[in-house]
Amino acid sequence: MVHDKLFPTTVIGSHPKPKWLNKVRKLNEEGEFSDERLEEAMDDAARIVVDEHERAGIDILGDGEMRREEMVEYFAHRIPGYEFNGPVRVWGNNYFEKPSVVEELGDPDPMLVDEFEFTRRAANEGHGVKVPITGPYTLYDWSFDEVYGDDRELIMRLAEIVNDEIHRLADAGARYIQIDEPALSVRPDDIDLVIEATEKVVEGVTKEEHENIERQIMHVCYGDYSAIYPRMLDIPVDQFSLEFVNQDFAHIDTFAEHDFDKEIGFGCVDIHDRDVESVEEIKENIEHAFDFVDPEQVWVNPDCGIKLLPRDVAFGKLENMSKAAEELRAEYE
Ligand SMILES: [Zn+2]
Repeated sequence: MVHDKLFPTTVIGSHPKPKWLNKVRKLNEEGEFSDERLEEAMDDAARIVVDEHERAGIDILGDGEMRREEMVEYFAHRIPGYEFNGPVRVWGNNYFEKPSVVEELGDPDPMLVDEFEFTRRAANEGHGVKVPITGPYTLYDWSFDEVYGDDRELIMRLAEIVNDEIHRLADAGARYIQIDEPALSVRPDDIDLVIEATEKVVEGVTKEEHENIERQIMHVCYGDYSAIYPRMLDIPVDQFSLEFVNQDFAHIDTFAEHDFDKEIGFGCVDIHDRDVESVEEIKENIEHAFDFVDPEQVWVNPDCGIKLLPRDVAFGKLENMSKAAEELRAEYE
């Protein structure tokens, strides 16, 4: 298996989109470019990203979410029962197409299977593919609810939908699933709901239950992990991929207070900083992980998706990250 070594390298999800892809999407929205042409452009962009990941030395790669605009919107467009009523202001001058649940949610067609199969075909042997999927709690938290009126009921319905999709992915051969729940870290009081929802999300597709699955991973970023620790260890996943550099390694001491009995996807490059960290600096960043886990528990990834970085900076960070992991591997093996 690709991950059977120390410090496997991976990405969280998003990668900078080529400018021409945004242009093609805009032309498609304006009716000047067919859906077929947009599809072709997204395929080309996905191939380029897979190639960049491989050249940068990433073991478990992705397509950089070239087909996705935004992590809730993409799914809300595909799940029957959602409606879009225009953008909502979220912070500063940033707008977000916040969807509304206007009917009981129906069963969507497969949402990510084509994306996964395309990525797997595009990747060369020796590389794994990780599939990020937005978790039910974040789908709920970033939507308006005009139907259920009961948070738990809506979250559990979304958990069923996400579980169905992971079953389809696993049956198609997906090995590494990443459930994205960034909303968790800003709503620590709902940790019990997240635990219950995730039990549903991975039902029948844990690595013990499904022959193809190697890891269920949860990504959480932008928040105070100490508010949900150690309770978060009860979330039934094999690994947490978390942000560390941008928080200046603030929660390492908290993690060290309890036995961190899962793997950690250790965020070791800053996605908000446009300077490419040196290999030496990234090695030092990764070594912070050994304050609370053993080297065997560590995977290496950026803090979060890197779509906001310039493409050359994104590539430079991934490349140095891989070199840092390789050098550490030689030292610790
Ligand atoms: Zn993130």
